[in-house]
Amino acid sequence: MNSKESPPEKNKKINIAIDGYSSCGKGTLAKQLAQHLNYVFIDSGSMYRAVTLFVLDHHIDPQDEASVERVLGDVDIRFDLNSETGRFEVVLNGVSVESRIRDLRVSSQVSYIAKISAVRRKLVEIQQKIGLNKGVVMDGRDIGTVVYPNAELKIFMTASSEVRADRRFAELEQAGQKVTWQEVFDNLVSRDTIDSSREDSPLTMSSDYRVLDNSDLSREEQFALAMTWVSDALNEIG
Ligand code: C5P
Repeated sequence: MNSKESPPEKNKKINIAIDGYSSCGKGTLAKQLAQHLNYVFIDSGSMYRAVTLFVLDHHIDPQDEASVERVLGDVDIRFDLNSETGRFEVVLNGVSVESRIRDLRVSSQVSYIAKISAVRRKLVEIQQKIGLNKGVVMDGRDIGTVVYPNAELKIFMTASSEVRADRRFAELEQAGQKVTWQEVFDNLVSRDTIDSSREDSPLTMSSDYRVLDNSDLSREEQFALAMTWVSDALNEIG
């Protein structure tokens, strides 16, 4: 570079939307990218899970839309930085619920909660505020289509159902949860079906997504591929 050329703009930030099926490693990739780029990682699924936890704890049927809508005003969702892990964790009415939202009790009901438009409106508003200053990697189902339709990079992740069930089963086993592989597999397939067929903000992909099928990719390989897309996106904004 000769001295008159200006160096590439180092401080320019983009938003990265990562959507895709359940348990295909969206969170893993999002965390890697956020850490590497010094961006904020937000797991939007944790917000739907936190609302589900609230509903179940209040003995409300997640499929009873009217009752869920009635209590939505009592639900406060925010993210707090966990100083030990350096990650943002979902906080429900002032209490961190990260450790309670991953079990099958919540997983088996969350897609019913996520179908409710009033729930989506509330959570999307929070998600959009978080992204106003850019520098966010958010994963979910509607991030590139609804939450950040202008995201500079949109990635759609997928992998075979069996590979995804293997990975999620191993995670749950490691966390000491008593579940069978079949239960995990059935839950994934059921959530994918509800998430892709719901009326409001279904999981879908537009032509501006980069597709990442990681059935046969290691974490390192998928990260390297995604980083080439990040470089392209950063170059595009100049
Ligand atoms: O990402 P995760 O699997 O934890 O998400 C849990 C559920 O939350 C999904 O199965 C889906 O029903 C819902 N969800 C959604 N939109 C998002 C993120 C998650 O509908 N942006």
